[in-house]
Amino acid sequence: MVNTTIKTTKSQEIFAAAQNLMPGGVSSPVRAFKSVGGQPIVFERVKDAYIWDVDGNQYIDYVGTWGPAICGHAHPEVIAALHEALEKGTSFGAPSVLENILAEMVIDAVPSIEMVRFVNSGTEACMAVLRLMRAFTNREKIIKFEGCYHGHADTFLVKAGSGVATLGLPDSPGVPKSATSGTLTAPYNDLEAVKALFEQNRDEIAGVILEPVVGNAGFITPDAGFLEGLRELTHEHGALLVFDEVMTGFRIAYGGAQEKFGVTPDLTTLGKVIGGGLPVGAYGGRREIMSMIAPSGPVYQAGTLSGNPLAMTAGIKTLELLQRPGTYEYLDQITQKLANGLVQIAQETGHGVCGGHISAMFGLFFTAGPVHNYEDAKKSDMAKFGRFHRGMLERGVYLAPSQFEAGFTSLAHTETDIEQTLAVARDVLSNL
Ligand SMILES: *Cc1c(COP(=O)(O)O)cnc(C)c1O
Repeated sequence: MVNTTIKTTKSQEIFAAAQNLMPGGVSSPVRAFKSVGGQPIVFERVKDAYIWDVDGNQYIDYVGTWGPAICGHAHPEVIAALHEALEKGTSFGAPSVLENILAEMVIDAVPSIEMVRFVNSGTEACMAVLRLMRAFTNREKIIKFEGCYHGHADTFLVKAGSGVATLGLPDSPGVPKSATSGTLTAPYNDLEAVKALFEQNRDEIAGVILEPVVGNAGFITPDAGFLEGLRELTHEHGALLVFDEVMTGFRIAYGGAQEKFGVTPDLTTLGKVIGGGLPVGAYGGRREIMSMIAPSGPVYQAGTLSGNPLAMTAGIKTLELLQRPGTYEYLDQITQKLANGLVQIAQETGHGVCGGHISAMFGLFFTAGPVHNYEDAKKSDMAKFGRFHRGMLERGVYLAPSQFEAGFTSLAHTETDIEQTLAVARDVLSNL
């Protein structure tokens, strides 16, 4: 292997200092590179499909700030809209027409959403939707799936994906038993297990929440009939179906997984893309259910910065860009080329892998698969993934530093970027 070890002196200095200042040196756990080994890279700026670190190295980026950067980083039209909005102030804490505009766009796009409430993160959206599920059904138990991530609220920290899976953490200390005693879990893609939970907890289950396509246990797609089956089961038992589309919303199709698969949940959570890189989350659903939210109803939920004008502006402009013709065709084309190429090259170089993509979301596991759920995902060779990650990084390709995260492409990734990435992957995989 050519020694391409990059110069990371400044990154190391800054990260060493950070470790004294913040737990693990980071503001969110997976960023610390714990599961792939080595030091994390400290970044200075982003543009289009690229990121630059503090030592001047350039990378092709497939993290896309964990999903929001679907139009490419620092898109000139988003930046221009933000400049204009900035001149009018950074926060109103009062109604603005920007909220109407983004709300209308979300309602038009997402089949299940008739009314929407904006919050500041995906975690907040999921916390709020949980309270609403329980209030509407007057039931307390919920069903979630192993390896699915719905933010870091107590109730969801049971067999959670993302950083919890990445770090192999047990369900978190500090979460009271009372918060999780009503959280029932089933393996993803296992309708029989869900059926059994409904039988064992008759008239007690408020609803089922899931990532309709999993991105937080690596990339896992729903088997044929799984989403439809959940729709039927929840109907049958008077429970709500909630799609957590914080990752998939406006990414795997403009209307999210519910548009893509033609299954309409009762409630939906959103985040990531709808903030265009600023902090936004949202939840929405049928008018009848959403009307229970304060002040139109009794279910309390509020936020000082919710509906923030800068965040709304970035979201509006991002969705406008996504509405342009050819967006999802292009995203699918380049991501297919990338995902298929990675699998093919890995197989040619003698590695047991499986992977795939839907639109601008992809994944690669170091196991021959197939991967239908979190247990299957855990069969992936983590040490090998770590070496693959480091090899790609040292040759200028930035992948999520965890086997349990999906990869993301954007409108800014060119065919040349993909070809270059595949050439790098061939070099790395041949020498792994
Ligand atoms: C990222 C994510 C969340 C949490 O969103 P934050 O903005 O990080 O709080 C929740 N659910 C899913 C499916 C996510 O991918």
